[in-house]
Amino acid sequence: MSGSARWKLVSLAALGLLGVLGVLILWRGPAVSTAAPAGVRVVIDPGHGGEDGGAVGADGTVESAINLEIARRLDAILTFWGQDTKLLRSEDISLHDPDAATIRQKKTSDLHNRARLVNEEPEARLISIHQNFFPQAQYHGAQVFYANGPLGQPWAKRTQENLRACLDPENSRAEKPISHDVYLMNHITCPAILVECGFLSNPGELTRLRDPGYQTALAAVVAASYLQCTYEEGETGYGSQSEASILLHPVRE
Ligand SMILES: [Zn+2]
Repeated sequence: MSGSARWKLVSLAALGLLGVLGVLILWRGPAVSTAAPAGVRVVIDPGHGGEDGGAVGADGTVESAINLEIARRLDAILTFWGQDTKLLRSEDISLHDPDAATIRQKKTSDLHNRARLVNEEPEARLISIHQNFFPQAQYHGAQVFYANGPLGQPWAKRTQENLRACLDPENSRAEKPISHDVYLMNHITCPAILVECGFLSNPGELTRLRDPGYQTALAAVVAASYLQCTYEEGETGYGSQSEASILLHPVRE
């Protein structure tokens, strides 16, 4: 089977996961619906953009473009499932203020504006999409990072497990707290995950990340993981009661 055909199947399987979730939600009756919880908005951040392309693969593939392709799909799937979303950029642009002149000023302004756009939402849930890069080519596999601990960690764990189960059984990476040098994730107050979808420095993974079918599969898994954390309760077999519907609880009382 060609790589492309394989990812079409995988993306169908990932969309099937969403279908199963939908059946569960419908079957469980009116107590659970996929209408967005009151006031909650999923902010989707396609990392980088404009002059800041982020990491670059050996074939010239720019991280910002892959981030945008996956983020657009994630936005479409979550919207289809009744969620209120906010996509921070829908084209190849930086979000800097007009008076930013140097590349450094533009980057700083862009990050400040992204943080403001998240924090101005009273009940945001942030999903930031990035691609990884490492000088040695052998490293591969998606990894999920989280901010704001108790709410972010179970969400990141679920996403990491689903990415492994649906897309990459060989991926033994675990979710991790975000490092202190990632500006956006350290300057927001809402539950947040950052998904490093794969390594542009690994030739095999780079080929997959460029494939539209794989991009859809990634987006479907990230979307399904969010919906599971938002709507599921313990008895469906996916998690404990304490971790269930964690994202439904308001951040502020
Ligand atoms: Zn990045």
